[in-house]
Amino acid sequence: MDESDADGEAGGRIELGSASAAPGTLDRGRLPVAELPTGGAERLPVVVANGAEDGPTLWLTGGVHGDEATGVAVVQDAVAALGECLADLAGAVVAVPVVSPAGLRRNARETYYADEDPNRHFPDADAESARPPKLQERIDARLYAAITGHTPDDTSEFAVETVGTNAAADALIDCHTAGVGSESFAIRDRVLYGDRRSESEAAALSAELGRLIDAFGLPVVREYPAAEYVEENLQRSTAGAVLNEAGVPAFTAELGAHSVVGDARLDAGVAGVFGVAVEMGLVEAEAVPESVDEPGVGVDPAPVEFPVRRFRGPTTDDSGLVRHRVAAGDAFAEDDVLADVVNAAGEERGTVRADSDGYVLGRCEGLAVYEGDPIGSLAVRDDGDLVVPRDADEE
Ligand SMILES: [Zn+2]
Repeated sequence: MDESDADGEAGGRIELGSASAAPGTLDRGRLPVAELPTGGAERLPVVVANGAEDGPTLWLTGGVHGDEATGVAVVQDAVAALGECLADLAGAVVAVPVVSPAGLRRNARETYYADEDPNRHFPDADAESARPPKLQERIDARLYAAITGHTPDDTSEFAVETVGTNAAADALIDCHTAGVGSESFAIRDRVLYGDRRSESEAAALSAELGRLIDAFGLPVVREYPAAEYVEENLQRSTAGAVLNEAGVPAFTAELGAHSVVGDARLDAGVAGVFGVAVEMGLVEAEAVPESVDEPGVGVDPAPVEFPVRRFRGPTTDDSGLVRHRVAAGDAFAEDDVLADVVNAAGEERGTVRADSDGYVLGRCEGLAVYEGDPIGSLAVRDDGDLVVPRDADEE
């Protein structure tokens, strides 16, 4: 593959699976990624909106968690709206609205292939396993090959042929939703340096990511610190692998709560995609359709001024029924009581206090808590770096 194919700027026809879009056209198709026991193939829906002019390629993915309705709708509606302005599009948008058809069929986060998070199995060259990869890992590796243009070490008939398809991403937005009643936010992963890239290359990649995520218009929440990030396998999420393995700017959008499409969140997501497309030079600001809002319109801004990172907690020391004192969007200070834990008769058993300043993204679902359970999804003050060594001992 030559360099112009790898960075998606060669122009010309874009082919992915059965979709084939000449410049100035949109096509829909299917990308086979695995064989099913019942016959036939697991196929991911793909939509390619190929602009009349050459330019960068933006990927949109949704539905890696099969119950995250708004994320799927954002990808469907954003690529359709971009498809309405192909004459003004310099570059292309490649969309996969449902990354996990097996999760969608169940309306559930996990698939029936395995009771595991499908968004933790993307390639990581450092991941060591004595066992051969199972189905989800193979599917994620094939999608990753399509996104990045990296031809995988995969001899199956479902290995995605990427050479010369012009489909490789210059940026990716992976659309999700969070818990019941959750705020909308965008997650900015830290860029790791070490074997993959130097510290200065990581800084340049992080700066480019910062530009795009700010253009999306949702409050930005930094991802967990490096050790917790790798421990939770988040470098193997869709955005994590595209960013930290392939070195392509990528982020996760969390668009409110799961299971039902939230109309305001849908509008904010589509507006955010256009904001990123404008920032990338895919489309001029004047060419954005009037029906599309400015990025960030209708979105609750962060109620604090300082940088924040994602935090699941604090945890309760007592088992019982949780009675929250704060709601999504509320700011709090270190040592504030965030929740009481009571027994079933309603008597106080204990309180749960904030470990630091921040605000509430959402409350954990479920009335019952056991000792050690987190009670919230928080955005807490972050004084850490955005560019960090993958292994602490590389410092
Ligand atoms: Zn999700």
